[in-house]
Amino acid sequence: MVNLPDPPMSLLLELTHRCPLQCPYCSNPLKLERAGAELSTDEWVSVLDQAAALGVLQVHFSGGEPMARPDLPDLVRHAASLGLYSNLITSAVLLNPRTLAALADAGLDHVQISFQDADAEGADRIGNYAGGHAKKLAAAELVRDAGLALTLNFVVHRHNIARVPQMIAMGEAFGAGRIEIANVQYYGWGLLNRAALLPTRAELDACTAAVFAARERLRGTMVIDYVVPDYYAAEPKGCMGGWARRFVNISPAGRVLPCHAAETLPAFAWPSIREETLADIWNHSEPFARYRGTHWMPEPCKSCDRREIDWGGCRCQAFALTGDAGRTDPACELAPDHAIMAEAAQEAEAPPPAFVYRRVGANLGVMA
Ligand code: SF4
Ligand code: SF4
Repeated sequence: MVNLPDPPMSLLLELTHRCPLQCPYCSNPLKLERAGAELSTDEWVSVLDQAAALGVLQVHFSGGEPMARPDLPDLVRHAASLGLYSNLITSAVLLNPRTLAALADAGLDHVQISFQDADAEGADRIGNYAGGHAKKLAAAELVRDAGLALTLNFVVHRHNIARVPQMIAMGEAFGAGRIEIANVQYYGWGLLNRAALLPTRAELDACTAAVFAARERLRGTMVIDYVVPDYYAAEPKGCMGGWARRFVNISPAGRVLPCHAAETLPAFAWPSIREETLADIWNHSEPFARYRGTHWMPEPCKSCDRREIDWGGCRCQAFALTGDAGRTDPACELAPDHAIMAEAAQEAEAPPPAFVYRRVGANLGVMA
């Protein structure tokens, strides 16, 4: 009898790569999917049915900007009918009283709004979208007044990290139950723009101190999630709770992935939901089994007592920095490749180059 893996808890649907903003750290792949390749409404409905049958508990509607899909309320309604907890991850520039009412009526549970900065000038420059920050502030008020759970997400880097205290104050002013201060993760667009985005060690230390002090002060009223950049870490993150253990991601064209960055791994033939069922892919596909658990680990992970805590770190980062997804994540101070991180961190000491904004047809230059 074959032992099947536990089912995923969370499903992230990248409904589209279309987005009005052009953040230089976007987690979407460098090769953006065009609208014509996106799954149809019926195909996404089938994905939701399959996910609920497999045991998924929560669904994140993401993108790109998921509100660029006019069928979003229909998909939210279908998720609610299946008993799935639904979260909208949005830039919020398309949220207004009418669109929010449609989503709330469909049964949406939670909204996560991404902010590019605490002030309009910085935010609109980073997202390359004039007037975006003001729209986001208005949208956050609408979400709060509609009584939906609200998280404010701030992606931080050398252009805005000094304003983390103001970001936390924004969360307090909105009465958000949770905010997320997430340093840029350096894959895809973030890696391409690393020299423009990576903060210095001193900037990161000041940010960390501000977050820890605010956590103490706001204990019991607001949760502050904090994600540090691996470049200054001694141990890697338990990326996605381990490869293909808890989380499954579906790209706009239906490729099924163990995380949103996995399309950066070129040696994988990612299965398609147009050709196989979600259960077959999760339970039996070779790319999902390849790094699941501990069987694949090299030393020093193989004999390390943290191997079932961080699962050897991030496979995409190992590939991006060493060319081999099967190596120990260089973020770990025990990794043979750890020196790469310290060398890369030197970039933060030099003047930042211009952003390569995220868009179809951007000049992608040469990857670091
Ligand atoms: S990170 Fe920016 S560009 Fe990418 S999907 Fe989010 S808002 Fe759009
Ligand atoms: S050696 Fe491997 S398992 Fe141990 S802390 Fe480093 S990455 Fe994690």
